[in-house]
Amino acid sequence: MIHKVDIAIIGAGPAGMSLAQSLVSGDEKTRPPSVAVIDEQKDGGGQVYRAALRQAPDLASVLGQEYQSARPWLQEASQNPDIQFYFRTSAWNIEPREDGVELALVSAGRNWRLRAKRLVLASGAMERPTPFSGWQTPGVMTMGAAQTLMKDAGLVPDQPLVLLGSGPLLYLFAKQLLQSGVSIQAVLHTGPRGLRAAAWAAFWAALPGNFSPLGKGLLWRMQLALARVPQVFNVAEVVAQPDPQDTAGGLGALRYRVGGHWHTLQTGLVLVHDGVVPNTHLAAACGCSLTWDQQQACWRPELDETGRSSQSQIWALGDGARIMGSEAARWQGVAMAPALLESLGYQPSAANLARCQEAQRRLAPLQRLRRFLDAQFPPAGAFSEISDDTQVCRCEAISAGEIRRIAGLGCSGVNQARSFTRVGMGPCMGRQCGASVAKVLAGAQGKPQSALGYFTVRLPLKPVTVGDLCALEADAPASG
Ligand SMILES: Cc1cc2nc3c(=O)[nH]c(=O)nc-3n(C[C@H](O)[C@H](O)[C@H](O)COP(=O)(O)OP(=O)(O)OC[C@H]3O[C@@H](n4cnc5c(N)ncnc54)[C@H](O)[C@@H]3O)c2cc1C
Repeated sequence: MIHKVDIAIIGAGPAGMSLAQSLVSGDEKTRPPSVAVIDEQKDGGGQVYRAALRQAPDLASVLGQEYQSARPWLQEASQNPDIQFYFRTSAWNIEPREDGVELALVSAGRNWRLRAKRLVLASGAMERPTPFSGWQTPGVMTMGAAQTLMKDAGLVPDQPLVLLGSGPLLYLFAKQLLQSGVSIQAVLHTGPRGLRAAAWAAFWAALPGNFSPLGKGLLWRMQLALARVPQVFNVAEVVAQPDPQDTAGGLGALRYRVGGHWHTLQTGLVLVHDGVVPNTHLAAACGCSLTWDQQQACWRPELDETGRSSQSQIWALGDGARIMGSEAARWQGVAMAPALLESLGYQPSAANLARCQEAQRRLAPLQRLRRFLDAQFPPAGAFSEISDDTQVCRCEAISAGEIRRIAGLGCSGVNQARSFTRVGMGPCMGRQCGASVAKVLAGAQGKPQSALGYFTVRLPLKPVTVGDLCALEADAPASG
């Protein structure tokens, strides 16, 4: 039997959790009978509050006050008996139907189907890919992956490391590493030391209502300086070099260029970060129109002011809709609830409407803050000028030179590039390389990146085993 609910939400981060809570907060007349939240993590919290519900107190204090204070709220939401939770569950197929959507899900080897009248994508962000020569070398990893290991498994690097890139999360993670006793050899910033000229106006506009987050950012920068970590600014080009003595080919050195001068830093571990972009894989898979966001240089789902996509039964919010940060994701959940309820014929309660108004008010300064962050931390040139020897697709080992070669043969878009070279056909399914392939093709053909489109998404959306596929269960697993 196919399990049926009124509203299914993919993603139990701040956006998905706050939406679910708001939806079930009214009385029986004003709320839908069934709301399900699906997430592949072990419990609620998303990327930002990953493992917050089961975190050891000493690590929770390293992860910060905001992380710790989310715990009671997450606990309350997770124990709400009116929400069906399906954790350790991946959505690997979404089929839009006339009267809703049908999801194919896999939970610990159990393969099952769920039908919902409305689907909400709260699937969050992923790190912006950072291709550079040698980035496939063991010892180069993304900063987000390292932070995930810290939050989820309490693991921190046992060797000195280099941080490379830009963005507020780089400063936050530097602070978390220092507090964990990790030695940071250097921070190589792809941006300038101070505010960019283009960011000043946005900074003054963001200041009212944002003293706390801006002050926190300043504090993280001061902590880095006080720890006397060497910092280099305006890094324009990077090359990772394997250690010739290491038979496993691990990282030996990082070469980087500032202005006209190249420098070499001996290191065995580099953590790279260049901001985050919406994870649009699910939206693209279910045929929602995407739009190019010039300010954040990425694709995002095209949504109306309530969060409804071009597929009327599918909605999206949080960082998966547009990068706005965790606090905004939480308020967006509150703001979306009344319109979503109305779309199903329910009259939202007065309390829900009042909270929606409050959420709109809270979102206004956060939008100004985001405009400042976008202006101060644009995608770095160090990862945009992709050299011929850079592997743009690490799954299939396809270089930028190969993409330029097929561009010269008349390859007209990313999907044709896939047929020509197998680019985007590996385990990441193009999530990591799609933007880089489009950038290289666009550069070679003198077109804007937005003109090259994005990979058509193929099923399954997540790696599933043949065993999982064969084990199609009749009923949903128990929620919770
Ligand atoms: C690696 C990384 C680390 C970050 N760390 C921080 C941080 O420390 N502090 C901070 O302020 N911000 C951090 N951010 C930014 C932060 O993620 C967001 O601002 C915030 O979490 C957005 O909330 P959200 O609810 O929109 O999405 P998220 O919190 O990202 O939640 C999305 C959820 O969707 C689930 N999901 C996605 N696809 C599927 C699928 N197919 N099937 C099932 N479940 C799925 C994910 O498992 C995830 O739990 C980080 C971002 C990334 C990418």
